[in-house]
Amino acid sequence: MNELISKLLENEDISLSEWEMLISDESSDELLFSLSREKREAVYGRSVFLRGLVEFTSFCSNDCRYCGLRRSNRNAERYRLREDEILQTIEKGHEIGFRSFVLQGGEDPYFTTERMYRILKDIKNTFPDSALTLSIGELSEDSYRSLKEAGADRYLLRHETADSEHYRVLHPEPMSLENRMNCLYTLKKLGYQTGAGMMVGSPGSSFRTLAEDMIFISKLKPEMVGIGPFIPHHDTPFRAEKRGSVSLTLRLIALTRLLNPHIMLPSTTALGTADEEGQLKGLEAGANVIMPNLTPLYVRKKYLLYDNKKISGDEAAENLEILKSELGEAGYIPLLTRGDYIL
Ligand code: SAH
Ligand code: SF4
Repeated sequence: MNELISKLLENEDISLSEWEMLISDESSDELLFSLSREKREAVYGRSVFLRGLVEFTSFCSNDCRYCGLRRSNRNAERYRLREDEILQTIEKGHEIGFRSFVLQGGEDPYFTTERMYRILKDIKNTFPDSALTLSIGELSEDSYRSLKEAGADRYLLRHETADSEHYRVLHPEPMSLENRMNCLYTLKKLGYQTGAGMMVGSPGSSFRTLAEDMIFISKLKPEMVGIGPFIPHHDTPFRAEKRGSVSLTLRLIALTRLLNPHIMLPSTTALGTADEEGQLKGLEAGANVIMPNLTPLYVRKKYLLYDNKKISGDEAAENLEILKSELGEAGYIPLLTRGDYIL
């Protein structure tokens, strides 16, 4: 096993079956995590980048089988923030120090490219010092280009799984892995700092599909990778499925860090939902980003991707102080800066 880890550290190509061995081996976790921390620290020190998350719409025209916001879920409560509410939410975050924001939502036809263009321009004109990440799903190349022109710096679009059969288990037609991957290559081409990623332990996943994810990540070379456990939602076809394993998620975070020491790796909310200590464990496995939720409280519980999603207290400034002191106690340096990928 150590031979494989050395191969990874030396940047040699790893085959599908070798990835499977790395992913399925529990016995090297402590070694993996300490190597992963070492690699992260060589590039980013003990910094943890905080990005303010604004979940601005819970409408979605897609029907992903794992997600509580899927179109077929008639019980989901839907909301859309108004344009001025989005700006105010960012303004509040900016006031307490955030210089990096993530706008995330379902694929909501109300937020056309023209409308998003206007919103992004507005945000960028008001807060030119801040980095903006979008996470609003699959769009055309023209739309991605236009939103980049409006000022978006980064884009998060998890590929969810790199195995096409598994992709089909998770997503009904007309969604396709091919289109998802094309979107990701387009985002890279347009100069976005691009985020891929996958759920761990989603129905139909296996060490093999996760190995395919690692190969896809090696090829795409994204600047970010979001990895979190699958968590069932009671109003989806996957309501009775098992949630993904926390320790397997941590292993994948560590392996991704070793694959690219520079990569931005969030310790995800799903990890914090599956395990009280999950987000800290994520950092200990090599993650270096946390995305505190800035979504106005009166809608926050409606953005329910999965059950028991962690909803922190109502006061963003107070939450931030608590998070900062927890991170400080664990020996990390919380940073509210743009937090760009270091080449
Ligand atoms: N609509 C956009 C962004 C919002 S969903 C998109 O799909 O890209 C953001 C992420 O939440 C998804 O990429 C998925 O990986 C994750 N997610 C959705 N449902 C989940 C679940 N039940 N368990 C864990 N993660 C989930
Ligand atoms: Fe919509 Fe994203 Fe949920 Fe899929 S994962 S249903 S695209 S919000």
